[in-house]
Amino acid sequence: MKESVLAIPYDEISDFLEQFDLLSSLERGEIKCLLCGKTLNQDNIGAIYPYNNEIIFACDNLFCLQLVVTKFAPLRNVKGEKYDYE
Ligand SMILES: [Zn+2]
Repeated sequence: MKESVLAIPYDEISDFLEQFDLLSSLERGEIKCLLCGKTLNQDNIGAIYPYNNEIIFACDNLFCLQLVVTKFAPLRNVKGEKYDYE
């Protein structure tokens, strides 16, 4: 699994989230991991993935990341680069 997916600088995440008006939701603890339901914050966001006009979030737990990839592949990171899953 590519480390870059797990280590996106928080400024890039916050810029991205701001575009979707989601930054304040994250800061208020309103965004949860789709898979395990854990409340996300700037330290434990593992994946952000647009799907069906929604944005899907997953925590940095490898199990959750793997499930996101399986369910919503091809996963891209916030820079839009194709996720290289193997
Ligand atoms: Zn999770």
